[in-house]
Amino acid sequence: MTADPPIRIHLSPPHVGVEEREHLLEAFESNWIAPLGPDVDAFEAEFAAVLGAPHAVALSSGTAALHLALRQVGVGPGDRVLCSTMTFVASAAPIRYLGAEPVFVDATEDSWNLDVDLVAEALDEAARIGRPYRALVAVDLYGRCCDYERLAPLCRDHGVALVEDAAEALGARHRGRAAGTFGAAGVFSFNGNKILTTSGGGMLVTTDADLAARTRHLATQAREPAAHYEHVEVGYNYRLSNLLAALGRAQLRKLEERVSRRREIGRRYREALTDHPGVHFAPMGDPDESNHWLTCLTVDPLVARVDREALRQHLRSRGIEARPVWKPMHRQPVFGDCDVLGGKVAERLFEEGLCLPSGSSLTEAEQDEVVTEIGHVLGR
Ligand SMILES: *Cc1c(COP(=O)(O)O)cnc(C)c1O
Repeated sequence: MTADPPIRIHLSPPHVGVEEREHLLEAFESNWIAPLGPDVDAFEAEFAAVLGAPHAVALSSGTAALHLALRQVGVGPGDRVLCSTMTFVASAAPIRYLGAEPVFVDATEDSWNLDVDLVAEALDEAARIGRPYRALVAVDLYGRCCDYERLAPLCRDHGVALVEDAAEALGARHRGRAAGTFGAAGVFSFNGNKILTTSGGGMLVTTDADLAARTRHLATQAREPAAHYEHVEVGYNYRLSNLLAALGRAQLRKLEERVSRRREIGRRYREALTDHPGVHFAPMGDPDESNHWLTCLTVDPLVARVDREALRQHLRSRGIEARPVWKPMHRQPVFGDCDVLGGKVAERLFEEGLCLPSGSSLTEAEQDEVVTEIGHVLGR
């Protein structure tokens, strides 16, 4: 076996330019080199304005934002928290940080997002036996929002706090409303591979002024306003660096452009690859509302006569990075003892699903190359 060549075409690389560099250097020269400063405040205000949300709090990661969101909606030791099983580990890990137990929910074939019927059944059953769930982490997978028309009232009626993990969905909408604005709190990530990046960072968005203020407090070591550093509770060191906030402000101005580029990439893949039997694209709903963070497809091995892994490995041998879709959380060893509602849909998507290079800096020539290589495998 020959070793794979270096990756030339990445899945979703950081996409930054001279504006980001200038902003970063201005912040550097101002000497605001700390997890607070004018760019943090401005980034929060500008981000909130873009989303049409009243409050945004800049944090060190999306994971930190989920941790603080769950803590503040009251999740604590022994609580049960519903969570999409088709997701990155960061949606579920903070549930465990708080001593609570995730209960995973399967996806649906026609959305890849969590199955609202399963949630409804679980909440009815929980009410019947008197063992309520504290919260629900709903993940907007690959940039498509969950069905919040049904989820939001369901959570409200059952007294379950809705936390929206919109880490992959910045710039997406649902019935005209921005992703991240549907729950008690919405969470974003600025990791290197997301729609926008600050190298690492996150944001918590909420309509609740108290929750926003408490998030800032908890994220700065729960320091009371006293010259001598007074503390009445244990907090965290979770604020975003001012340097990175400066980078984020420059990125934010390009949000629309970045999202429309990813949409265009998704559209081109679909157009070029629909004719292959056994290949199905992830159902993205209204293509003008999803942000198409990653374009994903499934390969049915019985029809396509080739499986996902063969396709992935071929691409890799050509220096092209593609990735299996998220391994369901209920199949992760670390969550092996957790309950799961359903699970078979997510398991099949994991077996057959592949994420294609989808970064906003992908050129048309690079995309054509990916399409050609996929054609070589599927055409066999
Ligand atoms: C990236 C991601 C996160 C976490 O983000 P970090 O900023 O890396 O901590 C959370 N949930 C989902 C679904 C993600 O894709």
